[in-house]
Amino acid sequence: MNPENVSRIKDALQKSRLTVFLGGAGVSVASGIPDFRSPGGLYSQKRADGRRYEELLSSDYFFEDTKGFYDFYWEKMVAPLAKPNAAHLALAEFERSHSLAILTQNIDGLHQMAGSKRVYELHGTTARYHCLGCGKKFGIEELERHGVPHCPHCGGIIKPDVVLYGEGLPEDALFGGIEAVSKADVLLVAGTSLRVYPVASIPQYFRGGLAVIFNAEPTPQDVNFDIVVRDDLTTALPEVLR
Ligand code: NAD
Repeated sequence: MNPENVSRIKDALQKSRLTVFLGGAGVSVASGIPDFRSPGGLYSQKRADGRRYEELLSSDYFFEDTKGFYDFYWEKMVAPLAKPNAAHLALAEFERSHSLAILTQNIDGLHQMAGSKRVYELHGTTARYHCLGCGKKFGIEELERHGVPHCPHCGGIIKPDVVLYGEGLPEDALFGGIEAVSKADVLLVAGTSLRVYPVASIPQYFRGGLAVIFNAEPTPQDVNFDIVVRDDLTTALPEVLR
């Protein structure tokens, strides 16, 4: 990374009273979970029946073909073997001595696994589920990871607490996250194409001093950031957070 940018970011982080990190699928690529829009990401692929992955992750598809949804979901969206990478670990370490809020679009739980405490899961999580019949909540460890899970109490279909296309975001995470951004002194955005709304509109709430984006490819919002870093985020983030 450019040494001038490194010292500018480090300096701002040391003075910051609250730092916000807003991350996307690119943060977990080095943990073995493909993102959506990189070359080779899930969006460049199609299932054998010709359906695009975007369609498979929609609320419409969940209700139209729940078994088809879950066949895809258990295979592609739940990554039981994934472990936090250097970026997750550097953020968790930073939070031990600084005030940090993490807003993530990821559903993989890797920030919490790394030890991060203040995490806003804007698109939900594969770790939690609820019954559409009686509302009972379940952890992933209570479910068999194949087929359509049914509630042992009422027999209803169990749905993941993951935000599917066509659904609204969890209000606690969205409004809590926006409030943190509006109070932050430094905003670090990483591993996101900033194309999925409403999350892509969150950086506009930032009023602080330094906004940095770490992303391998250009995003439509690069012009709004003070510093744009194209280096691999698993080396660039630890470099500035250390
Ligand atoms: P995206 O796929 O649209 O964009 C990811 C970006 O990360 C790309 O622009 C890519 O260039 C960049 N990137 C990838 N690896 C990088 C690296 N090592 N260093 C620097 N940049 C890197 O992701 P998005 O904007 O988060 O939107 C995708 C949606 O899909 C999100 O809503 C998310 O919920 C979901 N998703 C989640 C996961 C997960 O939980 N891990 C995985 C795939 C998709």
